[in-house]
Amino acid sequence: MNRHNSRPVVLCLSGHDPSGGAGLQADIEALLAQGCHAAPAVTALTVQDTVNVADFRVLDREWVLAQAHAIIADLPVAAVKLGMLGSVQMVDTVVEIMQLLPGIPLVCDPVLRAGGGGSLGKDDVGYAMRERLLPVAAIATPNLPEARILAELPNGTADECAEKLLPKIQHLLITGGHGDESEVHNRLYSRDGSRHTFTCQRLPGSYHGSGCTLASTLAGRLALGEELSSAVRSALDYTWRTLRDAEQPGRGQFVPRRL
Ligand code: PLP
Repeated sequence: MNRHNSRPVVLCLSGHDPSGGAGLQADIEALLAQGCHAAPAVTALTVQDTVNVADFRVLDREWVLAQAHAIIADLPVAAVKLGMLGSVQMVDTVVEIMQLLPGIPLVCDPVLRAGGGGSLGKDDVGYAMRERLLPVAAIATPNLPEARILAELPNGTADECAEKLLPKIQHLLITGGHGDESEVHNRLYSRDGSRHTFTCQRLPGSYHGSGCTLASTLAGRLALGEELSSAVRSALDYTWRTLRDAEQPGRGQFVPRRL
C-alpha cells in the first residue's frame, strides 16, 4: 500500500441507518463520489426505515474513543465529519477526539431529527453542541429547524439564528430545504461578516439523508484542499443532483442517489 497516492481520508463520526439512506452509509457514498476515503466510526445505532425512526442506541464512549484512536494512529485524517451523536456525553467525547487533531477541519451536521421528524437526540444535545462543539468546528450545516433549536429561537429567521450562533462558530451554513417556497435559499454566514446565499430550485418530495450527503461532501471537499465557500458551493451542487436523481426504495422518503 502506498500512502502517498492515497485519497484524502475523512473521519466520519456518525450513526448507522439500516435503511442505507442516511448516516454512515450516506457519508461513505458521498465521500467516494468526491474521490475521498471514508473512515466510518460508529457513534450510534438506529432502528429505522425510510418512513421514520423507531429507536436508537448511543455507543459507549470508550468504544467511540477506541475507534477514533485506531484511525488517528494509522491514517492521515484530512477532515472530520460529524453526524448523529445522540447524547451529551458523545458531544464531549468528540471534543476530546478533536484535541488529537489540531488544525484539521471539522464539519458539524447537528443531527437532532430524522428526515421523517423522529428524534435522534434531545435538545440538550444541541445545546451542548452549541457550547462546546461549534467552537472547535470549521463550519456547521444545520437546516433551519435545527438552527432554531441550537439558537433557542423557535420562530427565528435564518438571519436571527445566525446572529445568535456566530459568536460560537466561524462559518454557518443554514439550509432552507425544509421550507415551502419554490426556491431553496441556503445561507452561508461567516464570523468576519460576509454573507452568501446559494439559491436552487426546490425539488418535489421529501428526502432521507440529504443533510448527511451535504455535510460529508463538504468535509470531503475541504479534505481535498478546496477553499471554504467554493467547497460549500460544490457540496450544495452535488447534493442537489443526488436529490434530483433520488430513488424511492421503500414506502417512505426518497433516498439521494450519490453514486
Ligand atoms: N444520521 C443518522 C444515523 C440518521 O439515521 C439520520 C436520519 O435518519 C440522520 C443522520 C439525518 O438525516 P438527514 O440527512 O435526512 O438529515
